[in-house]
Amino acid sequence: MININDPKTKFAINAVRQATALAGDIQVEMVSKALTKDDRSPVTVADFAAQAVVGFFLENQFPGAILVGEEQADVLRSPTERGTLDKVTAFVNRVIPGVTPDQVCEYIDRGIDDPGEMYWTLDPIDGTKGFLRGAQYACALAYVEGSSVQLGVLGCPNLSPTLKEDIGGSGSLLVAKKGEGSWISGLREKQEDKGFSKLQISTQSDPAGARLMRSFESGHTNVSQVELFQEKLGGKADPVRMDSQVKYALLAAGEGEIYLRLLSPERMDYREKIWDQAAGLIIVEEAGGKVTDLDGKPLDFSQGRTLKKNRGVCASNGTLHDPALKALKSINA
Ligand code: AMP
Ligand code: MG
Repeated sequence: MININDPKTKFAINAVRQATALAGDIQVEMVSKALTKDDRSPVTVADFAAQAVVGFFLENQFPGAILVGEEQADVLRSPTERGTLDKVTAFVNRVIPGVTPDQVCEYIDRGIDDPGEMYWTLDPIDGTKGFLRGAQYACALAYVEGSSVQLGVLGCPNLSPTLKEDIGGSGSLLVAKKGEGSWISGLREKQEDKGFSKLQISTQSDPAGARLMRSFESGHTNVSQVELFQEKLGGKADPVRMDSQVKYALLAAGEGEIYLRLLSPERMDYREKIWDQAAGLIIVEEAGGKVTDLDGKPLDFSQGRTLKKNRGVCASNGTLHDPALKALKSINA
């Protein structure tokens, strides 16, 4: 069982729960079919609002802790962005009644630290493109010590606790702590309900039965190599395209066997951001799966804001990890 009363675990569950529920409301209220293709304002508001909420709870509960968040408030402070700041403040008020625009900026900037020996890392909205398309996205918070992740929480507003896509539904929350397993509950349930169920990775050992996942956005991966990989492995199913770390949630729950982040041919120098991988990684590992880079090396979270020493990601149910790495090698991925 996971001890949800451990102070760090309790803080992370509560902060992500509140931030994600707010992001869910913002998606429902601000994203509409009338949105023009280039209008990113709903996700901008949600990104800032969610980081402010997590920054607020961290400041209250662990004032000295390091938080490496994806966002910073300087743009919001410029006079031309006053309208955006007012919108963000109005939403954050639902969680922190009476909060002022200046305080909102301070809570966002609670996350401008650089990584240290021990740090929290936050992606307030992972999968911004999914958010705008009305698809999957997640709020991801993790705690790192040294080079490895100790605790991770994922809030998934559009995924049901039974792992079904449920756009505009009540959402789910996943938590994993080193040595304590991976667990899921409803996003909006109260902490006292203790309604967490244990996640278990798929036991599939036949490569032909592997269900493969990749980014929805073709520019975030190498689509033709993903197809080549599937051929080499002998997998029969078409790769599932999905935004954000929700893919890690599905893998942890046994709803898929392999998740690849290959390097886009346009961005061979791309290195993953710590907040894009940390929470998802521990949720998969604690459910019994394995996560490495494309060369089979562990992801090293002690290298700053990016995983400088790692190329891409290969995540699996464990049993299929060696066959997956072999297939990657044979296609020179
Ligand atoms: P996904 O929806 O799984 O592709 O993950 C979304 C994340 O991909 C975003 O938060 C970005 O930080 C990250 N991303 C952006 N550009 C790239 C890229 N060229 N290659 C890989 N990931 C990227
Ligand atoms: Mg992200």
